[in-house]
Amino acid sequence: MSAVLHLDDLQVPVETGGTSRKARLTIEADGSLRLRAAEDITTDELRQFLASKREWVYRKLAEKEVLQHEPVTKELVDGEGFLYLGRSHRLKISDLDGVVRLERGRLVLPKQLAGAGQAGVIAWYQRCGETWLRSRVRSLAERLRVEPGAIEVADLGLKWGSATDGKRVRIHWATLQLSPALVDYVFAHELAHLREPHHGPDFWQLLGRVMPDYGERKQELAKRGASLWFGGTS
Ligand SMILES: [Zn+2]
Repeated sequence: MSAVLHLDDLQVPVETGGTSRKARLTIEADGSLRLRAAEDITTDELRQFLASKREWVYRKLAEKEVLQHEPVTKELVDGEGFLYLGRSHRLKISDLDGVVRLERGRLVLPKQLAGAGQAGVIAWYQRCGETWLRSRVRSLAERLRVEPGAIEVADLGLKWGSATDGKRVRIHWATLQLSPALVDYVFAHELAHLREPHHGPDFWQLLGRVMPDYGERKQELAKRGASLWFGGTS
């Protein structure tokens, strides 16, 4: 019996013994998966069991709003691919000075900033992300009837976004790698929290009014989110 199974990009450690059922899959508070299996279950049966839980897993991860991902590392070298709003951009290390920027589809990193490592690239996500979100906020906020204060893009650890103090909305910079439809979902979700802090029926109803297909986006987010880059260089 292999000690770790995979569900798409997710790792699922397997523990055997000590269960009354054939197999039991749980999701921990941090979004990690654990599979407990009876001694006599075969690996094939266990794989089938896991596959049958796929939709449930993504639904649960989406509900928890926890980022579940495998460590993806990037190299700060010419040609490395970086996603922004769903499109991949090749990195180009430039001899010219300046800031990190998109130029003719390439993500340009000035050589003198490359020494500082990924911080410059992450700062670029933050800067562009904030500008992009500001271009989206008016229509979403109007339809949700909320008035957000500060909109910030930051490193939020295990969260896609947060809405605090009834005003401030923050989005994880890694979110900006997703397609506009999914960034919009995360953003609209947090904006909706300014009116409905909890995930009760009123919250989902409010979100559904501005985004009728939020359910699909939510599951898509849990799937796509697992393979994004969250910082870390090799
Ligand atoms: Zn929420």
